Amino acid sequence: NTQNQTPHIVILPSPGMGHIIPLGEFARKLISLHNFTVTFTIPTGNSPSKAMISYLQSLPKAIDYTFLPPVPLDDLPDPAKIETRISLTVNRSLDVIRDALKSFTATKRVVALVVDIFGTDAFDVAWEFKIKPYIFFTTNAMVLSFVKHLPELDKSITGEFRDLTEKLKFPGCVPIHGKDLLDPVQDRSDEAYKWFLHHAKRYELAEGIVANTFAELEPRALTELKQRKDWPSVYFVGPLIQCNKDTPDEQCEILKWLDEQPHGSVLFVSFGSGGTLSSIQIEELAMGLEMSGQRFLWVVRSPSDEIANATYFTVQSINDPLSFLPEGFLERTKNLGLVVPNWAPQVKVLSHGSTAGFLSHCGWNSILESVVHGVPLITWPLYAEQKMNAVMLVEDLEVALKPEFAENGIVYRDDIARVVKGLVEGEEGKSLRSKMRDLKESAAMAFCENGSSTNSLSELAQKWKNN
Ligand code: UDP
Repeated sequence: NTQNQTPHIVILPSPGMGHIIPLGEFARKLISLHNFTVTFTIPTGNSPSKAMISYLQSLPKAIDYTFLPPVPLDDLPDPAKIETRISLTVNRSLDVIRDALKSFTATKRVVALVVDIFGTDAFDVAWEFKIKPYIFFTTNAMVLSFVKHLPELDKSITGEFRDLTEKLKFPGCVPIHGKDLLDPVQDRSDEAYKWFLHHAKRYELAEGIVANTFAELEPRALTELKQRKDWPSVYFVGPLIQCNKDTPDEQCEILKWLDEQPHGSVLFVSFGSGGTLSSIQIEELAMGLEMSGQRFLWVVRSPSDEIANATYFTVQSINDPLSFLPEGFLERTKNLGLVVPNWAPQVKVLSHGSTAGFLSHCGWNSILESVVHGVPLITWPLYAEQKMNAVMLVEDLEVALKPEFAENGIVYRDDIARVVKGLVEGEEGKSLRSKMRDLKESAAMAFCENGSSTNSLSELAQKWKNN
C-alpha cells in the first residue's frame, strides 16, 4: 500500500539543458518547500552531454534520475528540426516510459507526471496508470498564449504566418509579426510544424500548466490565461533559475578575470547551450566588439553555416572555436576582452559586479537569469521562440537594445559597436538598467513568503498532495 507514502512526482523532460535546468530547479523547490520526492525519467536520442550529467548529479538526493535507452532517429531526414527530433524521441520512448511508470507506481505514491513542451504524447501512458499529467512550460506566458491560440489560427489562416501583413494579437501580450513567431511555425509544410500543432492541441488535456515566468513580469497575460475556463489551470512559478553551484577549476579563471575588471564594465556575450553563428557572423561580431572599445567576455563556439543550434544536444564544438576568430583579434583585444571556448558559468557571470550587460540569444532561461541579476540585454535571437522573447524584452519590458539584422540575416560590425556602446556606456543603457533594477526587485519578491510564485507553487503542491 503506497497511500501513506511521501507523494512522488515523475518528471519527463525533453533532452537539452534549457529544459533540464528549469525542471531541476522546479524539483528542488518541490522537495525543499513541500517534501515531495522526484524522479527524472529522461528520453534520449543520443548519449547525454557531460553538462547534463553533471547538472543532474548536483541535485539533492531526493531527486533521482534515470536515462531511458536512446531511441533510433537515423531514419529522419537530415537535418530534421529540433522539435521533430525531440517529439519523436518522446514518442518512440513510450514503451519504456510505460515500464518506468509501472515500476514507480508499484513502490511509490506517484501523484503527477510532469512533461515539458514537447512531451504530451506521454499523457496516454499516464492515464493508463491513472496518473494526472501536467505540462511544465519552459518559457513565458506570451508564447503560452500563442500555443493556446494556434489550433484556431491553423484553421483560420491560410498560407504562412510570416507573410501576414498585420501583427498578430493575443490577449494580454504585445502584438507580434508572423515572422517573429517561433521557429517550428515558420514553415507549415515541415514536420516540425505538424508536431508543434499536435502538442498545442493536446495542451487542453493536461490537468494543469506550470510556467517558468512570474505574475509581476507578465501580469496581463496571466490574468487572461487564468480567466479562460476552457483551459487547464495555469501556475506561474518562476523565475526558476540555476542555483550557484561550484565552478569547475577550468572555469574559475573566467571569474578571476571578471574580478579584475572595473565595476559594471563588461559585456557578456553568449548564445545559450546550443547557439552557433556562421563564420561571417563570428568575424563581424569580433570586429564589432573590438570597434566598440568596451570590455567583453565572449563564449565562442565553432561556426555552423547551416543551422543556428548545431550544438544543442552536445554543447561542445568539435573544432577549436578560437581558431575561427579574425587574424590578430585575440592579440589586439587582450587588454579588453576574454574569449572562452564553448561554456561559461553563466549565472555566476551575470551575478558578478563587473558585468554591465548581456548580449544574448534570448533563450528564456538566459533572460530569467538576467532579470534575477538585474542585467540589461542586447537581443540576438537565433532559434526556437527566441524572436518572440526578444520582442517582449525590447517592446514590452523595455530592458534591451536590438541590433539591426540585414536582409541576409547578418548583423554588421558598425551596428554591433553601436548597440554595445549604447548599452554599456550610453544614455539608453542607463534607462534600460533602471527598468531592469525594478524587474530584479519584483523577481525577488515573487519568491518571498506570500510572493506570487510561492503561493502559486503551494496551491499546486496542495492539489498534488490531495490526489
Ligand atoms: N548556460 C551556461 N553556460 C553557457 C551557456 C549556457 O551556464 O556557456 C546555461 C544558461 O545559464 C541557461 C541554459 O544554459 O541556464 C541555457 O538555457 P536557455 O533557455 O537560455 O537557452 P537554450 O540553451 O535552451 O537555447
